[in-house]
Amino acid sequence: MDDSSSPDCLFCKIAAGLIPTRFVYEDDTVVAFPDISPVSPLHYLVIPKQHFTSIIEVPVEVMGRVHQAILQIVAKEGLSTKGFRLVNNSGSDGGQVVAHVHWHLLAGRKHTWPPG
Ligand code: AMP
Ligand code: ZN
Repeated sequence: MDDSSSPDCLFCKIAAGLIPTRFVYEDDTVVAFPDISPVSPLHYLVIPKQHFTSIIEVPVEVMGRVHQAILQIVAKEGLSTKGFRLVNNSGSDGGQVVAHVHWHLLAGRKHTWPPG
């Protein structure tokens, strides 16, 4: 892990390859991997490798890189026609459990609204 990572952070460890997973996407800034408890047939987590606690801390340049990564995953998985849901939970009212910013990419079924 580099200096920007948080030593006790689960997703920093995943990004650093210290916890085995399958990277479905990786570049120098962003990585994506399957959620351990999927709620949809496709459920990936997309994260910056650098530790940011929530979206409030993420610089706009990194947001752009996350966006690019998501677009590449959407293309690779063929999700653009049927669609998908992209979720960012922020803070306790937002339902965030893991304090390393992440986006849930959900697809493969119809998603309803409003969420719980
Ligand atoms: P959130 O509630 O938005 O913070 O979501 C955290 C997500 O991380 C949940 O959907 C968990 O299932 C997922 N998760 C927790 N531990 C792991 C892990 N080791 N590998 C992959 N996903 C995980
Ligand atoms: Zn982290």
